[in-house]
Amino acid sequence: MAGIYIHIPFCKKACHYCNFHFSTNLSLKQEIINAILLELKLRKDELSESIETIYFGGGTPSLLSTEELQKIFSCIEQNYNLSNELEISLEANPDDLTTESLKQLSDSPINRLSIGVQSFFNEDLIYMNRSHDEKQAKSCIEDALTIGFENLSIDLIYGSPSSDMDKWSKNLETTFGYPITHLSCYALTVESNTALDHFIKKGQMPAPNEQAASQQFELLLKISKENNFEHYEVSNFAKDQKYSKHNTSYWRGTKYLGIGPAAHSFDGTIRRWNISNNAKYLKAMNAWKINDHFNPEGHLYDLEKLSSSDRYNEYVMTSLRTMWGLDLNHVKINFGEAYLNHLLENAKDKLSNELLTLNEGKYTIPVKNKFFSDGIASDLFWV
Ligand code: SF4
Repeated sequence: MAGIYIHIPFCKKACHYCNFHFSTNLSLKQEIINAILLELKLRKDELSESIETIYFGGGTPSLLSTEELQKIFSCIEQNYNLSNELEISLEANPDDLTTESLKQLSDSPINRLSIGVQSFFNEDLIYMNRSHDEKQAKSCIEDALTIGFENLSIDLIYGSPSSDMDKWSKNLETTFGYPITHLSCYALTVESNTALDHFIKKGQMPAPNEQAASQQFELLLKISKENNFEHYEVSNFAKDQKYSKHNTSYWRGTKYLGIGPAAHSFDGTIRRWNISNNAKYLKAMNAWKINDHFNPEGHLYDLEKLSSSDRYNEYVMTSLRTMWGLDLNHVKINFGEAYLNHLLENAKDKLSNELLTLNEGKYTIPVKNKFFSDGIASDLFWV
């Protein structure tokens, strides 16, 4: 199994909390699409495995027209080996999903929509500087369902100082009132050098409160369970096993190709990341286009060969975030006895404090401590 991730580096508006790569200047959109098509062709030999997931992420991929998305998909179809069980996801913002555009998307190969709702309250959306309002959030979900999208995911953000338990509870009630198949919920975090970080430091905006976020996370676990959603990863919930193939492939360490500015790729050992600058990405792609001998390393991308300890630490971190857990046998086979012994030794006090449980050779983090997964995992790292 392998995947392709396409990064569309444009947004209408800069959300205050965001530290992804994007530009609000859309003047290079056409050139970037052409460069993405070229990168897909030039890198086709890097991935011979069957592709099971294609993910249009960003930025805001729903800023592309259906024709533009179709053009990228056709290029993938012509150059890669596609599985019959292909999941093709599009991240979309509510204000881009009109009835007309949803109808066009439903006739395209895209079979999964991930809608960035974040909240159904205007005060939260204003605090986050989102480009949509509550009305648009609701109407695009309703339209997508009416038009026939069956595999529908919603993104929400909890822990915003503009929210509280009552509003969060209403957000969940509204969300589970729709027949969606998947939900991703992220705690609002303040990343350095974001607008939110700047406003909080200047005292112009209140900061998120970790205790409130933890209580909202607990409510999320309770309500998602009542609605028969499986909590399969710290931030992800699925109904009827409609797990995101794209996210699951990341957590399982499978190969993927990241195309477009700032996109990351992984071939099992080497992680590589494209330059996070639209103009420099175009310059490097143009140089590659006209010169077969051009070496794109250092211009288009940088890379890092992961050591055994890097790969072990990544496995510990990602596996403990999921309901499938950390497989002791996997550690023994892939990393050896020394890593296994290190893990068993460091897990002892976590087991006695119920921060970990052991079942059929797998460690998992009990539901009540899932919110602290990353901290628990990091104590098991090979340093
Ligand atoms: S729409 Fe997404 S990528 Fe764009 S600024 Fe907002 S959070 Fe970031």
